[in-house]
Amino acid sequence: MVLAVVNQKGGVGKSTTAVNLAATLATEGQKILLVDLDPQGNATSGYGLDKNQREQCVYDALLGDIELERLIEPVEVEGVFVVPSTIQLAGAEIELVSAFSRETKLKQVLNPVMGDFDFVIVDCPPSLGLLTINALTAADGVLIPVQCEYYALEGLTKLLETVRLVKTQLNPALEIFGVVMTMYDRRTRLSQQVVDEVRDFFGDRVFDTLIPRSVRLSEAPSFGQPVTLYDPSGRGTEAYQLLAKEVISRV
Ligand code: ATP
Ligand code: MG
Repeated sequence: MVLAVVNQKGGVGKSTTAVNLAATLATEGQKILLVDLDPQGNATSGYGLDKNQREQCVYDALLGDIELERLIEPVEVEGVFVVPSTIQLAGAEIELVSAFSRETKLKQVLNPVMGDFDFVIVDCPPSLGLLTINALTAADGVLIPVQCEYYALEGLTKLLETVRLVKTQLNPALEIFGVVMTMYDRRTRLSQQVVDEVRDFFGDRVFDTLIPRSVRLSEAPSFGQPVTLYDPSGRGTEAYQLLAKEVISRV
């Protein structure tokens, strides 16, 4: 199953979710390929891989210069493998524009390795550009992190419109797999209001698990570790573990 983690709004918890869900799914016995499709490289550095010191990244695979398989790296969490990104990937948005079947590049390069994994998780950049379109074209499901903040629903209509377009034109199998509420603060009314609003809008597509606002979750990336290693018994780990169970039960 290929899941694209998408929301064109920045800073809503896409990379945090991609990194930590990969880790907790692995704890549940799943084999995970985490593909970093964001030039910012937060999923890459989140697993302690250096995004500055590497010759080749997912960009080179998209351009057909290397097989994706050769970019796959094991990380500290057993069962998780990462295809890193570097800032070079920023060029792909432009360079792919004139390429033949530019929207299906990721799907093509993933194809030979897909059978080796239970889940492929694609961390997308905060835009609905060509990289995100590639992720949507390669995906079976869209996983949308929504931050428990003002204007949470803003932009989601545009996102759903893009998903619908990709579904009709490029990838008929594409579905909204789930919506995950992030940075939930149970002490504020705002958080609960946003959850209610998003549940009104998306119904049962919203996961029961709410990801709490947690300092540990925000600290873990600076140690190059998912929260399962950085704070194994904390609330962040517990929440992402519950999310992993929900994800598996939905497949
Ligand atoms: P971008 O759009 O730039 O790729 P993003 O959607 O991937 O951002 P993240 O990088 O995951 O978002 O999170 C944005 C910031 O919020 C980061 O500093 C991250 O550490 C922090 N953060 C994410 N989730 C939580 C959480 N549950 N609790 C506390 N901080 C969080
Ligand atoms: Mg990110």
